[in-house]
Amino acid sequence: MARNCVASINLNAITNNYLYAKSLAPESKAIAVIKGNAYGHGAVKVASHLEPLADCFGVACIEEALELKSAGISRTPILLLEGVFEKSELALVDKYELWMVVSNNLQIEWILESSPINKYNIFVKIDTGMGRLGFKEDESPKIINDLENCDHINKITLMTHFSSADNHDSAFTEVQIDKFNNIVGNKQNDQSLANSAAIMAWNNSHSAYTRPGIMLYGSSPFPLNEPLNNLTPAMTLETSLISLKKFKAGDKIGYGRRYVCKQDTLIGVAAIGYADGYPRSAKDGTPVFINGGIARLAGRVSMDMITVDLTGIKNPKIGDRLELFGSNVSIDEVANYCDTISYEIFTQITSRVYKTYVS
Ligand SMILES: *Cc1c(COP(=O)(O)O)cnc(C)c1O
Repeated sequence: MARNCVASINLNAITNNYLYAKSLAPESKAIAVIKGNAYGHGAVKVASHLEPLADCFGVACIEEALELKSAGISRTPILLLEGVFEKSELALVDKYELWMVVSNNLQIEWILESSPINKYNIFVKIDTGMGRLGFKEDESPKIINDLENCDHINKITLMTHFSSADNHDSAFTEVQIDKFNNIVGNKQNDQSLANSAAIMAWNNSHSAYTRPGIMLYGSSPFPLNEPLNNLTPAMTLETSLISLKKFKAGDKIGYGRRYVCKQDTLIGVAAIGYADGYPRSAKDGTPVFINGGIARLAGRVSMDMITVDLTGIKNPKIGDRLELFGSNVSIDEVANYCDTISYEIFTQITSRVYKTYVS
């Protein structure tokens, strides 16, 4: 491989993070959320590696589930987190015994009209304040009741999703838990509430099934500068330096001449850009790791290249490896410099970046 822009993915880190999620909620089964191509980490690779220990996999849609099925994932159940988008999918749900979320009346109609060979295993989603998918609180009891009387259904798990679990100071997670408990009353159904943030911060949301996503990949769901946690970054994004030049104080670097050299400055060019998924929104100062030290982005991200201020870096030369994020530069810090979250950066790494797996 000539252009050496590589994402190396440590599958054991994902295993460790999954086991950590399980240890935080020891009574719960954990649905490993691998939608969005496992947050850009490669859903088939991640699922194949986790399959011996995962309780369930969570994906966004049937296409993602079928990809896992055709790759031979057969022992671990797969949950469609948004359920089906059209009636014809129910035949595949039946065939592959997929689990599905049910969150609107049309999905219920389709279920009633269908004639499955295997009874469905469904998660009924209740909107307790997220304001997105799910039945409203006042209609939920009747819907749950109706579904309980449907012959095509084997098991009903009740679920909700938090809007603010990543904010320790927000009382709203408790509000959502209370609303959920009010609706669910003393029903014996299994429940599923917690995403990564709630697994880590809201013990009283732990129930039959947790749904860890971002934490599996070693990124924190919480704002930067909160106490360190036991997560291990799974992805390291690296490339190499392809040019080095000295500039004078006052010289300007890159498109729009955004970066101004304050002094005589050694600027390096690295082979990664927004066509690889490195965000164009990255500000000057975004950290990169090279030769044991931190250098800073200097100037706008181009399609195929970035420019970095190498002040203070030991003996840089063309060909040196440079880490954009991984164990030396946290994805969460990079995301902060880009006014986004790690989720978005992970899922926007493009196919031009060569992926390697270590385990
Ligand atoms: C994506 C998703 C999750 C995982 O969320 P994280 O913040 O990545 O842990 C959990 N539940 C549902 C319904 C989701 O769509």
